[in-house]
Amino acid sequence: MSLRNIAAGVTSARIHWSLWVMGGLVLAYTVGLMIPDSGFNPFVDGFLAMASVWTCVAVSWFAAYGAGRGRRVGRSVGRGGREGYGRPELLLAAAAVTANTLADTQELIQQGTGVATYPAPSDAGYLLFYVLFLASLGVLVRRQLRGSTRSMVLDSVVGSLGAASLLAVVLTPVLDEAAAAPPSLGTAVALAYPLLDLLLLAAIAGIIASHGAETGRRWILLVSGLLLFTGADVVFALAPQAYVIGTPLDALWTIAIAMITLWIVRSGTPQSTSPRPAGSVSAVAVPTVSILAGLGVLILASQVPVSNLAVVLAALTMGVATIPLIGRQRALRMLSRTDELTGLPNRRSFYADAPGRLGSVESGRQSALLLLDLDRFKEINDSLGHHVGDRLLVQVGARLASQLRAADLLARLGGDEFAILLANSGSDEAVVVARKLRVALAEPFLLEGITLHSSSSMGIAVHPDNGADLTSLMRKADMAMYKAKSARTGHHVYQSDDDSHGDVRLRTLEELRFAVQADQLELHYQPKVDLATGDVRGVEALVRWNHPTRGLLLPEHFLDLVEEAGLMPTLTRIVLEKALDQAALWRASGESLTMAVNLSASSLVDRDLPDRVGAMIASRGLAASVLTLEVTEEFLLNDRERARDILTRLRALGVRISVDDFGTGYSSLAYLRDLPIDELKLDQSFVFPMIDNERAATLVSSAIALAHSLGLQMVAEGVENSVAYADLVSFGCDYAQGYLVSRPVPAEELTGWLADRKLTAIIGGS
Ligand code: C2E
Ligand code: MG
Ligand code: MG
Repeated sequence: MSLRNIAAGVTSARIHWSLWVMGGLVLAYTVGLMIPDSGFNPFVDGFLAMASVWTCVAVSWFAAYGAGRGRRVGRSVGRGGREGYGRPELLLAAAAVTANTLADTQELIQQGTGVATYPAPSDAGYLLFYVLFLASLGVLVRRQLRGSTRSMVLDSVVGSLGAASLLAVVLTPVLDEAAAAPPSLGTAVALAYPLLDLLLLAAIAGIIASHGAETGRRWILLVSGLLLFTGADVVFALAPQAYVIGTPLDALWTIAIAMITLWIVRSGTPQSTSPRPAGSVSAVAVPTVSILAGLGVLILASQVPVSNLAVVLAALTMGVATIPLIGRQRALRMLSRTDELTGLPNRRSFYADAPGRLGSVESGRQSALLLLDLDRFKEINDSLGHHVGDRLLVQVGARLASQLRAADLLARLGGDEFAILLANSGSDEAVVVARKLRVALAEPFLLEGITLHSSSSMGIAVHPDNGADLTSLMRKADMAMYKAKSARTGHHVYQSDDDSHGDVRLRTLEELRFAVQADQLELHYQPKVDLATGDVRGVEALVRWNHPTRGLLLPEHFLDLVEEAGLMPTLTRIVLEKALDQAALWRASGESLTMAVNLSASSLVDRDLPDRVGAMIASRGLAASVLTLEVTEEFLLNDRERARDILTRLRALGVRISVDDFGTGYSSLAYLRDLPIDELKLDQSFVFPMIDNERAATLVSSAIALAHSLGLQMVAEGVENSVAYADLVSFGCDYAQGYLVSRPVPAEELTGWLADRKLTAIIGGS
């Protein structure tokens, strides 16, 4: 750091110039001391020595006084983390510099008189330097440690003790000699110097540990200045007889005093300071080095004589160092048993604590284990992103906790799975709790501006009836949970025949993975009729699983499993390939039918989807307008931006977008305005009641009008009878799809059906 830099931070021009003068004098004095001469040189050892230190005194008082004024002004400006230095510590430091300089002056005068006394009057000044400077550092460290964490304070203490114990070893001869001498003022003074040096070094180590060397260059000034001062003191203390005035040792003291003065000047300027970052190099280095130093001193003490003080300080270093270790150990244990996301006990903790709570079978007490799994959580995670999924889990954890008693044990086992051990509860009590929890989780969750509805499935197993130990209880509760999930009942208490159900589920999952590769998935097609003309304009492809033993399975029996196994992207690809192949076949045979394919909400994750769909269409030589992709409101509701991006790109290809099951989602209708959509498919639940409910019919006609007013076409699903059909025609609905027209059938069957229909129309027309 150049003098120019230091001076630049100071507003006063006077300080600016006096810094140059001070620097010049100290340099001249140091150079002067290097030039060999015989004995006392009045110019170097008298004038330059005095001029240097007294300039330091002047500059330090000026800066310390200015800091006080600057701080008053700075207070109104200096909010927002900028911290000036308090006046007291700087004034104390300036006083310390003055005391040292007075002592130097006294020393020089005494040198002139040739009368040597011990202790000399100058010793009072030198000792006062320590006292005043330690007081200054005390104020500083106190302010610095205010707001520090306990571990930072402990690190500082460890650092201080470690440094002091090391110095105590170095100073062993001095300390021993002073301690062995008969008690007198001289002995006390002789002992005071090394002890005060010890304190000074301890304070320096404490400052580094609590602040970090990287937090400001002015700290380097202070720490180096003090180290230099202490170093010179130690050299002197080890061989006081060898000291004569006018050696380079004097330069060390003067340079140290100049550095301390520069620190006072620098500290007068408010600078932004940052607290020691946790895990910073010094945060770890100081305590580590201190512990090693303490250990080293103790080992050394077992081999060679070392001062008792050094041993006591080293032992203290080790002792204090273990305090944070114990704390950290405890914190680590806590951490390893806590779920990071929700703050609840984790799987490890649950497995450790639950067995003890189950109690003995003989006690006659029952406990219920409740396993809870969120429904369609993967979909939320995939489509809205993990951060939303995480926030949902946090809120779910909090809601569950709020419904339970203190004696119950709640833990997050992982993913979206929670375990609850209900103390003193049989299956009836557990069912009551399960209902209560489901009600709590049914309340909408507000996550990043999205209102999300969630449901859960719970499996209940009772101890000791369903299992004597935690492992078997967990297995039973897990089976019950899957039963609840597949039956969509919300909760289920384990029954003995659930065992086979669990096995079936696992087997089905395996079979499904195989089915995807073994081409067991096939498509059925359901026609859509143009209500204005009665013509079939297009079909919807609906997936079926041709199971080798269980026959043809409908989507409701395997789509959840597909989602759970992460096979949905594969299924979508297979369905698209097959559907487009079929569309190409029909096109080749002169049948121009549009093809609708369902997209799951989880397809939203796949940003490459538009490109892949484009390539599939192009490779078959089809027009993109042949394909309609049916998405659910859930798809649109999740990550709106991503949905818009994917849909816009698909639409740019020429693919049509349809909103399936329109009216069943929880979303606001705003997406109709914002997202690129061509068609709405009114859910069957609106169409079924139309025939005997006027309000239902009005709702349908209004929905059709709404679609038209937005420039969208309307398809009615679930048209099962001719009354509904006729009503839809009268309401101006565009298309109808339902059992009245045709059930979903294999392609060949539909081809035949279409031919028959055409024939009937021709015969009817002729
Ligand atoms: P969706 O897309 O709303 O399909 C219409 C469903 O309603 C079909 O059930 C169809 O058979 C049934 N349906 C059609 N007309 C009538 C009627 O008049 N009355 C009654 N009661 N039902 C009728 P399906 O084939 O069981 O499909 C159920 C759902 O599974 C579909 O609902 C769709 O959401 C999903 N799905 C089907 N295939 C796929 C697929 O390839 N991929 C994805 N992601 N989902 C699919
Ligand atoms: Mg559909
Ligand atoms: Mg539908």
